[in-house]
Amino acid sequence: MKRRLRLEIQGTVQGVGFRPFVYQLATALNLFGWVNNSTAGVTIEVEGGRSPLNLFLEKLQAELPPNAKIDALKYQYLELIGYNNFEIHASQTGEKIAIVLPDLATCSECIAEIFDPQNRRYQYPFTNCTHCGPRYSIIETLPYDRSLTSMADFSMCADCQREYEDPGDRRFHAQPNACPICGPKLEFLSHCQGQENTNQSPLEAAIQYIRDGKIVALKGLGGFQLLVDARNNKAVQQLRGRKQRPDKPFAVMYPDLPSIKNDCFLSQLEEAFLTSQASPTVLLQKKKEFNLAENVAPHNPNLGVMLPYTPLHHLLLKSLNFPVIATSGNRSDEPICIDETEALERLKNIADGFLIHNRRILRPVDDSVVRVMNNTPIILRRSRGYAPEPLTLKRTLSKNVLAMGAHLKNTVAIAQKNRLFLSQHIGDLSNQLTLQAMTKTLQKLSQIYDFQPDIIACDLHPDYLSTQYAKNLAQKLNISLISVQHHHAHIYACMAEHQLESPLLGVAWDGTGYGEDGTIWGGEFFWVTKQSCERIAHFKPFPLPGGDRASREPRRSALGLLSQLYDLQVLKKLNLPTIQAFSATELELLLSMLKKDINTPFTSSVGRLFDGVASLLDLRQRESFEGQAAMALEFSIDGLQIPDFYQFQYTKNDSILEIDSRGIFQGIIQDLQNDLPKNFIAAKFHNTLVEIIFDIYLHTLKLGFNSRKNIVLAGGCFQNKYLLEQTIQKLESSGANIYYPQKFPPNDGAIALGQVMVVTGQAI
Ligand code: ZN
Ligand code: ZN
Ligand code: FE
Repeated sequence: MKRRLRLEIQGTVQGVGFRPFVYQLATALNLFGWVNNSTAGVTIEVEGGRSPLNLFLEKLQAELPPNAKIDALKYQYLELIGYNNFEIHASQTGEKIAIVLPDLATCSECIAEIFDPQNRRYQYPFTNCTHCGPRYSIIETLPYDRSLTSMADFSMCADCQREYEDPGDRRFHAQPNACPICGPKLEFLSHCQGQENTNQSPLEAAIQYIRDGKIVALKGLGGFQLLVDARNNKAVQQLRGRKQRPDKPFAVMYPDLPSIKNDCFLSQLEEAFLTSQASPTVLLQKKKEFNLAENVAPHNPNLGVMLPYTPLHHLLLKSLNFPVIATSGNRSDEPICIDETEALERLKNIADGFLIHNRRILRPVDDSVVRVMNNTPIILRRSRGYAPEPLTLKRTLSKNVLAMGAHLKNTVAIAQKNRLFLSQHIGDLSNQLTLQAMTKTLQKLSQIYDFQPDIIACDLHPDYLSTQYAKNLAQKLNISLISVQHHHAHIYACMAEHQLESPLLGVAWDGTGYGEDGTIWGGEFFWVTKQSCERIAHFKPFPLPGGDRASREPRRSALGLLSQLYDLQVLKKLNLPTIQAFSATELELLLSMLKKDINTPFTSSVGRLFDGVASLLDLRQRESFEGQAAMALEFSIDGLQIPDFYQFQYTKNDSILEIDSRGIFQGIIQDLQNDLPKNFIAAKFHNTLVEIIFDIYLHTLKLGFNSRKNIVLAGGCFQNKYLLEQTIQKLESSGANIYYPQKFPPNDGAIALGQVMVVTGQAI
């Protein structure tokens, strides 16, 4: 007996060739009916006998297209209608819970086409298909249909239309389908805004510029990139000068894997990430025989490496056949440019030429960054290729939550029902342009999912721009605002990622976060239960002369730490690099600030401890980018393996343990006076931190409340490979279950995620 089967499917089923897959499956089994995209996912009806229908159901789930994923599948059997063919219907509108796919790197079949002189897409920089190409960066709203993307600006030629309509074609319903006849086109503008050599194609002109050591601004997939020959010291220096980026490492795009292996070590896992469809920047260890200009990543044993991920990148790199710097197209601290008018203005003093095109980028999506630590990939910056993939929550929320994140590396999150969407990386909210970028990101993400918040979560820090924005918005919408302590958010973000249940020990170490007592936290241990997140240990707070400025001047952290060891009169005569790093007047001023307690907040931050040690070892007295001193300290270990660590005590031993760092610094100064090498002191300091985590973990066991032996390590400090790996090794030896962020950043890029989790635990 024939029956009608109706299926409602949710998950990643749009923009991945799902409907053609269904079409081919149904027609192969001789089943009639239809399939369509809805805003909720995909709906299918098929009619046929019991066994072909069963086979259809089975194969539908077993033979999914490469990027598709089914989260929920509901089906029912209904009365026969009597369809006489199988059709793909037009999309419906309704509740928006389908999923927007991230942008996907060009697939091998499309690459083959652009390098095939016989193919009609030979050298066409906007080639894509159902399995690859732009998604999130071009989507206005759901459902995913060409008319709701920036490809609506281009109408398909007859050939493209035929591919688009042919269920047997790789481009069947590929929304950004395009060819040289009908699709987006390149243009090259030299700095003086005119073509210099009219015989050259825009691509050739850009290639010539890069070969000549000039800086080219490229309109890429999710925004502008600045490209320059990575072997050319002078050209790289020019980029550094113009971008006002003296030291921060640049990422490099290589033509292919063999050329990467010339310069860097590459594990199988790292290779898998480099060649994945997300195609992130992967941090690799440089080889001794490193062939690029020294100033690409100065004083850094690692290099951020990526492969071409759009046809345009493939064409450029194939021609150049050497690695180029591919860094975000922005002025320092500003968001990445996405629009050529804006880029021509903002990048006019940086780029010599502009390789642009007329496909609009609807939202900025930076390159993502991944580092392999403890043999696991860790996403340090989550953007292109990953955002806005949702996190499925364990329970369904009754209220919609919006979370505004923190200040540095800001991201925002929206959560409704059982899904949480964390935005792509936005940047440091330190200027109006970044704030605007955040507002836009939020608006566009909300628009895609028809999202209206019932509750807003923000950081506890009253001065963050994200907090102020949240306050105003909550007032305007007349909904409740909940402030979330920064380090609580770090721990809960990691718990959400691993679906962890309390109780557990949470270690949150970073540079800065506003504490519940109004001081600056950053070296925290929490005992997390269903009811609370209790601070059970922290580093003894030390003074930071000059407050915020101390986070950019490691020498100030060191001075604050030293002021706890020495009388101020003795301190200024010490023969230490930290003291010598100040002029006499600077020193007098800071000492009097310390003495009178003016603009000298106290902090328990481990990030600032790293800064202090880096200053004492004279590795870094001032920073030109966040984390520079801590990185210098990590790198200075240089492979040394020693068991030594500094002795530490607890100052207070009542309900909250207070770790006294004074003994550690006394030990460091003694080792310095004994002329022990820097790598030894650096390793010994790192080992001390490992011992402290281990000791407090043992403490929770002794008190008898950590019977499950669960521990979470989160916060920016755990981007330090030595610290993370040594801590894990030490804890594993005692059978602990260790969790750390992997799919979401350990740094403040995941604070919005944690905020949602804290709020939903408290208020929903
Ligand atoms: Zn493709
Ligand atoms: Zn065409
Ligand atoms: Fe943080």
